[in-house]
Amino acid sequence: MSDGVDTGRRLVVVSNRLPFNVSVENGRLRFHESAGGLVTGLAAYIESRKRARIPSKDHVWVGWPGSTVEGDLRDLLRTEALAQFQSYPVFLSEKEMEHFYLGFCNKTLWPLFHYFTTFTAYDENSWQQYKHVNQVFCETLSQLVRQDDLVWIHDYHLMLLPRLLKARMPELSIGFFLHIPFPSFEVFRLLPARWRREILEGVLGADLIGFHTYEYTHHFLQSVLRILGHEHHMGQIVTSEKVVKVETFPMGIDFSSFVDAVDHPDIQQEAKTLRDTFPQIKIILSVDRLDYSKGIPNRLRGFEIFLEKNARYHGKVVLLMVVVPSRIGVDQYDRMKRQIEELVGKINGRFGRIDWTPIVYQYRYVPFPSLVALYSVADICLVTPLRDGMNLVAKEYVATRKEGTGVLILSEMAGASKELGDALIVNPNNREEIAEAINEALGMGIEEQKKRNELMQRRLRRYNVMRWANDFVKDLMETRELQERMRAKLLSPAIKREMIERYTKSRRRVLFLDYDGTMALLVRHPSLARPDENTLGLLRALSADPKNVPVIISGRDRTTLQAWFGHLPIGLVAEHGLWRKRSGEKWRLSKFCSSEWKTRLLPILEDYADRLPGAAVEEKEYSIAWHYRSADPDQAFLVAAEMTDHLVNLTAKTDLQVLQGSKVIEIRNTGINKGATALDWLLRDHFDFVLAMGDDWTDEDLFRVLPDSAFSIRVGVVNTNARYNLATTHEVIDLLRDFVG
Ligand code: UDP
Repeated sequence: MSDGVDTGRRLVVVSNRLPFNVSVENGRLRFHESAGGLVTGLAAYIESRKRARIPSKDHVWVGWPGSTVEGDLRDLLRTEALAQFQSYPVFLSEKEMEHFYLGFCNKTLWPLFHYFTTFTAYDENSWQQYKHVNQVFCETLSQLVRQDDLVWIHDYHLMLLPRLLKARMPELSIGFFLHIPFPSFEVFRLLPARWRREILEGVLGADLIGFHTYEYTHHFLQSVLRILGHEHHMGQIVTSEKVVKVETFPMGIDFSSFVDAVDHPDIQQEAKTLRDTFPQIKIILSVDRLDYSKGIPNRLRGFEIFLEKNARYHGKVVLLMVVVPSRIGVDQYDRMKRQIEELVGKINGRFGRIDWTPIVYQYRYVPFPSLVALYSVADICLVTPLRDGMNLVAKEYVATRKEGTGVLILSEMAGASKELGDALIVNPNNREEIAEAINEALGMGIEEQKKRNELMQRRLRRYNVMRWANDFVKDLMETRELQERMRAKLLSPAIKREMIERYTKSRRRVLFLDYDGTMALLVRHPSLARPDENTLGLLRALSADPKNVPVIISGRDRTTLQAWFGHLPIGLVAEHGLWRKRSGEKWRLSKFCSSEWKTRLLPILEDYADRLPGAAVEEKEYSIAWHYRSADPDQAFLVAAEMTDHLVNLTAKTDLQVLQGSKVIEIRNTGINKGATALDWLLRDHFDFVLAMGDDWTDEDLFRVLPDSAFSIRVGVVNTNARYNLATTHEVIDLLRDFVG
């Protein structure tokens, strides 16, 4: 469906720029249209919401109005912007904007995210200004946003905003979409450690995060894992506060507006004039903003090579190059403009004739009708950015080719290439390849052109900009529902009170406490998790009450548990239930197990550990654990999968099982688990208060066997058999402290 979904909520779109620019002339406000892929796309979506048969709630667009507005004019602008554009301005001074926009946004994030690492500046002042402006956006939003709004934040200018806003309004639904590439970890990590953490945490403040391509999504998830340590499961990240969904939504175009426009008499007239200007000449079109990421000089050199090698096309082809002014006044851009103009002059000088100019160059913004006229007369559209988040021009060209003719030459570095695989795909760094593609495009038969375009048009028609935005908004609502379901199990203050009341009234209590990840934070190396005085003091206090039977129920070996907790009057369970020890008694084996198999499997596990730096083998009495928390996560994923496969084969038809834990793989005898051990404990005594807390799947065995009246708690906001969730280990400790008063 392409018309707006009825969310029943107001949509608040937040972007750096509003859909208009305002200027102050002689003390008066003047409004101008503002251009760019983001504005064009979102404006089309918003229009579709208005047209939709289902009444959707209204929207408001929040952003910078394009210039500094002071004094009384601010009130006037607020009123006018709301009345004319349903917009709400964020006021910023020239200086704030300069350091923010020209500084951190365009000298740090833009070049780095487009892989222009040598252009990237790392300036602390600009970073501070970036933080400040994100804060100003947050202040402005908190004046107008209502709890039940859907807030959709756009692009690299506002990566800190989701978190800032969430901290102010935790119940608000927030989506974030990045319109530029998210670079690979090796590039993203070039940012100073503090900045890169804050940026990722900032974005993770949103409930749903979207990218144009799977590659960018993957890069983001990888950086989140490596920098913040959060793993994801099918794009879902569980932070201490909530589940965040990360998903791919390739932005489409308003397909029908291009198809419809071609037939408009004015546009047809303009197209005819253009055609008549270049009789019998093949037109190659190139349109982009002036930006180094667009690869314009390389494109010109590619065209030069084409002319060099194909004299037969001299006089028969023209490159119509439109360069749209952008970031005027920035040195780098001014220099690039001169470079492009020199190149155009050089190529025209070298190949041009009295009756033929190979490149017709225009430095200007082209309004929509003229752009459609250009698309409709161009035999070839040459789109060769060195990096581009998406590139809408490529899609618009294909959409406009109603007759099915025309050839799109597209850079493999543009996000759009993931969807437009039937274009002639080129590596934009390789000028020879550009030249060859032009030659191939000129020689391509009509049938072939139609076949390719038809396939691409089918996709563009279906997955248009309305669908893109609808999918995003729908997914945002679904993510909120998912969070709600998970939150329903979060231990509320009321349940906590009830629990403490039951605890106080009860006469005999058992407390099954997992250690790593529950009582103590997970750390890079297991030996670093030794309990501190606070934890030991808490366990001592719990055990001091004769009604209590605290039991540490762990996957660790009994030697470690004995060393850490042996001096306390508490129960201990080691190796997930294989060994147990009641207070004041000796360690006992739960089941007779053999350990001969260890000698056979140890060398294999060690061999895999040798292949994975950071992996370690832990030999326990009746089991082996293969830890990989400190290893490179991607490499670990592959090696662990391969090893598991190998071990599952080796242990088939034996009394052994291979179990996947949290960054650990365990091999042990079957029939041993925390649930079986807990049952044994429960059957030997009469407890009227049962509590179990744990943080991973081994604890699920325990949760499953408990009586209905028991309180079971899983640490982390994840699906579980436990009755409740707690977000962090700190809350576990707080709860236990509340028990002991
Ligand atoms: N555009 C325009 N006039 C121009 C050049 C471009 O209206 O002279 C529009 C074009 O139709 C497209 C957008 O600007 O929708 C450019 O988006 P794209 O993703 O190609 O590049 P960006 O400028 O966002 O990097």
